Amino acid sequence: CGIVGYVGPRPSQDILLAGLARLEYRGYDSAGVAVIDGDGALGMRKKAGKLAVLRDSLADAPLPDGSTGIGHTRWATHGGPTDGNAHPHLADDDKLAVIHNGIIENFSALRDELLADGVVFRSETDTEVAAALLGREYAGNGGDLQLAFRSIVNRLEGAFTLLAMHQDHPGLVVGARRNSPLVIGLGEGENFLGSDVAAFIEHTRKALAIGQDQIVSITPESVTVMDFAGTPVEPEPFDVSWDA
Ligand code: GLU
Repeated sequence: CGIVGYVGPRPSQDILLAGLARLEYRGYDSAGVAVIDGDGALGMRKKAGKLAVLRDSLADAPLPDGSTGIGHTRWATHGGPTDGNAHPHLADDDKLAVIHNGIIENFSALRDELLADGVVFRSETDTEVAAALLGREYAGNGGDLQLAFRSIVNRLEGAFTLLAMHQDHPGLVVGARRNSPLVIGLGEGENFLGSDVAAFIEHTRKALAIGQDQIVSITPESVTVMDFAGTPVEPEPFDVSWDA
């Protein structure tokens, strides 16, 4: 339902939680974050309930600081509002984290394919199917996250805004959108992704639109957009003009 991503020099957790709070107006039933810390380990926490439940859990048992992160508020469509069905969903031995807005219409056929391959699922969500598909593709192509991501989004039908990051690629968040919104926020030495500009409005008002069926990669110093075929696209700047 709500999506935020961050890469830059700052600890990401508070940026993610503040961004998710700005997206609360959309409604949600669960929330979660994943961060990659300085040692290159991925930490993840997710909880059913309001953001306060996630905040309390993080206060009781903090995740290590990480300056690459993704955060999600979920409005359940596939699987009830439980901790396990909350996002992020992990794959590739918990080194890869994925968050998703929308509905992957062909998740059932994809899940059957992955089950036949020995994948064990930990949730009832359509999203975990995308995560597992990405994990399998990534492992199979020698660890090229952007290529694996482009390959799997082409297999997903329905509506999705999808973000992914991998602990072996700190400083990189990849995203894609089909029938669901995703925007880029440009900072100084840091960049953001959001399901809408509210996710990063505190930090920058310089935004770039991502078109239908496009993929984005952000690092602290770069933003790259391409279509699902891999052809580079020049993203359109737009003005964030509303008061926040
Ligand atoms: N279909 C996904 C789920 O049920 C994502 C829902 C959303 O957009 O928050 O987990």
